[in-house]
Amino acid sequence: MNLMLMGLPGAGKGTQAEKIVDKFPIAHISTGDMFRAAISNGTELGKLAKSFIDKGQLVPDEVTEGLVKERLQEPDTETGYMLDGFPRTIAQAEALETIGSELKKPLDAVINIDVDPAILGARLSARYICKTCGATYNKLSHNPKVEGTCDRCGGHEFFQRDDDKPETVQNRLKVNIEMNTPLLDFYADRKLLFTVNGDQDIDAVFAEIESILDGLNK
Ligand SMILES: [Zn+2]
Repeated sequence: MNLMLMGLPGAGKGTQAEKIVDKFPIAHISTGDMFRAAISNGTELGKLAKSFIDKGQLVPDEVTEGLVKERLQEPDTETGYMLDGFPRTIAQAEALETIGSELKKPLDAVINIDVDPAILGARLSARYICKTCGATYNKLSHNPKVEGTCDRCGGHEFFQRDDDKPETVQNRLKVNIEMNTPLLDFYADRKLLFTVNGDQDIDAVFAEIESILDGLNK
């Protein structure tokens, strides 16, 4: 069973990815982990990728695609894989089709965890932090037990990271929506796209994913 997982920031992709690989015997391939492993193993492509990262440049598609192709030949992918963070563009998606057919491991499904961007914006920009100890809180879902007093250190001063400010969050979502939309269309055209309602509790989201994956296994 070969999958690709998609979702905007804050949609719960990381949590669902963990639950999927707990339940199904497939390799979780996140692009970040894949780069780190190739670099620390000192493979040719890893060294090449590092040379771009060290210069603060984007790793070119050929290098990333080469790494994906190597990764998909490792033994833990024999029972399946789940890509997370790749492909990000149509060009990469086309490259993945080529790799998948060469290795006889084509994608079976793309799971998109869908949450209204307005809800995500509110969720992500609700995060705030204790100035003294760095404990993280969320205005919507996780406030200190005593209002205005940090649970961990008793501090009374809080702040919001620049990354969590509404303007920054909106911009991050916008960039991701622009990147994801063509990919969603691409996979919908190929009848590989499955959309899951991500605006439910974690177990309910996973139940939807599970029923899709059980259907694929039949
Ligand atoms: Zn604190």
